[in-house]
Amino acid sequence: MHSFDYRAPKDLEETLEEAAHWGEKGRLLAGGTDLILFMERGRLRPEVVIEVPRTEPFTTLEETNGMIRIGARVTMGQLEHSPLIREKLPVLSQAAGEVGSVQIRNLATIGGNIVTASPAGDTLPALLVLDAQLMLQKKGSLRTVPIDQFFLGPGQTVREPDEVLTEVRVPVKGDRFVTQFYKLAVRSYMDIAIVDVAIGVYTNGDGAVEDARIALGSVAPTPIRAREAEERLKGQVPTETLIDEVALLAQKASSPITDQRGSAEYRWLMVYRLTKRLLTNALLNSSASGHR
Ligand SMILES: Cc1cc2nc3c(=O)[nH]c(=O)nc-3n(C[C@H](O)[C@H](O)[C@H](O)COP(=O)(O)OP(=O)(O)OC[C@H]3O[C@@H](n4cnc5c(N)ncnc54)[C@H](O)[C@@H]3O)c2cc1C
Repeated sequence: MHSFDYRAPKDLEETLEEAAHWGEKGRLLAGGTDLILFMERGRLRPEVVIEVPRTEPFTTLEETNGMIRIGARVTMGQLEHSPLIREKLPVLSQAAGEVGSVQIRNLATIGGNIVTASPAGDTLPALLVLDAQLMLQKKGSLRTVPIDQFFLGPGQTVREPDEVLTEVRVPVKGDRFVTQFYKLAVRSYMDIAIVDVAIGVYTNGDGAVEDARIALGSVAPTPIRAREAEERLKGQVPTETLIDEVALLAQKASSPITDQRGSAEYRWLMVYRLTKRLLTNALLNSSASGHR
């Protein structure tokens, strides 16, 4: 690996100073499970590695004013096991629990998963379904970017080099929002997704879908929302025919490629099958819990 300097700022202010000072020459380090690998392989060659401190807001995990605040340094293991996340954002807890192994989940952070911007990042479809907001801060300014506007391509985002992701904010949608997540992989453990599907539906007392989110991973250059499929559901009392039509629209939204994990055709077929299955399960669960 190339040689580089290491900085360990002690709080947010010092982190913003370092990020502003080094700009493109610097790179933030959280769990290091992506960064160190990318540096070993020569894909990233920062002159300075700046460790994100284990202090607030990076370590925050709390509910305030109808929002769940998740610091960028919160790990997959914390998201998997936190009673707050399990109760209020089960789709995120489930997705985080699918990342790597126990050892990886103890290091890997939500901030790192987001900024790496892999089309196969497991928490990303869950965060899309939850309408997560990303807080990007640099010296003297703070902006909020909705997660569906963050990704530009594999490894590419709208984040500027001196911007630090401080936290992720997720509006609490309540009990009527029923979610599902599934990661399809060759192995059930320590494997990158062939397809990730996350679904969220709001139904009303009459059984009609008020609002829906369908997000897909590993089937396009970025994680995506299948918006046409979502729109087709809105206001409808779902039938088998409608669910089939929605699954076909989700398939239409994807543009998978063939790689060592699966062919484009297989991914394409699995988007249809998994969307159909997860949507059916979500609707059954919402009816079982008395929301329709
Ligand atoms: C063996 C193995 C298995 C894996 N399995 C999976 C898997 O199943 N699913 C999956 O989704 N991923 C998987 N990964 C990838 C990786 O673990 C995740 O993407 C992880 O969430 C990255 O988090 P990190 O804290 O380690 O990030 P780091 O490696 O520390 O950083 C990743 C990137 O984010 C940037 N960054 C980090 N924090 C910030 C911040 N606060 N602000 C701005 N930029 C920041 C870094 O500069 C770097 O570019 C695996 C990795 C390994 C090594």
